[in-house]
Amino acid sequence: MITLTPIPAFNDNYFWCLDNGRDAIVVDPGDHAPVTVYLQQRGLQLSAVLVTHHHADHVGGLPELCAAWPELVVYGPAFESIAHVTQSLAEQDSFELSELACQLAVYEVPGHTRGHIAYVGRINSPLRIMTAAGTELMRFESAPPVLFCGDTLFGAGCGRLFEGTPAQMWRSLQHLAALPDETLVCCAHEYTLSNLRFAVYVDAANSSLHVRQKRDQQLRDDGLPTLPSTIGVERATNPFLRADQPALQEFARGLSQHDAGMEEPIATFAVLRQLKNEFR
Ligand SMILES: [Zn+2]
Repeated sequence: MITLTPIPAFNDNYFWCLDNGRDAIVVDPGDHAPVTVYLQQRGLQLSAVLVTHHHADHVGGLPELCAAWPELVVYGPAFESIAHVTQSLAEQDSFELSELACQLAVYEVPGHTRGHIAYVGRINSPLRIMTAAGTELMRFESAPPVLFCGDTLFGAGCGRLFEGTPAQMWRSLQHLAALPDETLVCCAHEYTLSNLRFAVYVDAANSSLHVRQKRDQQLRDDGLPTLPSTIGVERATNPFLRADQPALQEFARGLSQHDAGMEEPIATFAVLRQLKNEFR
């Protein structure tokens, strides 16, 4: 049995942890302290770290973790300069974490940052998803694919375009949206409720969205994460994956930011991303 856990950190980050009861890997540890506490509480040893991009809230824990675990393998993007990365990865690279029965494939997903990568894990084992406090959220006899997407795809949202263009981000998101519907989406932030408020504003007639908003509000009221989501849920409700839908294109064309000279669906995606930056 492999366990997948979002370790909460800072205000709204999750450092995702995979473990087999003895060995663990952590994704995007922006701070060493919550990781160290979690590992110590469960008697786990850290064997690898996966990094998606260079922002401090994703890599800030690396110096202390590397000092504490001298054998640590740190995977990260080839096209970003990140201290402590030992294995640089690019599109179509793959590798195995044999202790976790996990094969990982690397996707380049530029947009939030220039060199951002995502990891798609195929786990050949039963899988359970637990909160760090010990509540079981889900259990699978046969694990679906697991996507670690950093700050590219969020629950009902996507990352800001700090270093990339709308066209790059749209293509990156479409790359992820082509994964199987059951793929578990492990995002680096708990932004879902705020993203859903925006999604309902731009895609009001989407009934799946209202169902999701009610369910995710209940999860947060119960002190539980809204994640992982699935690719199927995101395709049905995430406006940033739906800029190819007539309802969203019509909405975007009604706004002054819409650039009629830009090709669809990138024009609609660009409007939605800009509008979200200003949305309160
Ligand atoms: Zn970031």
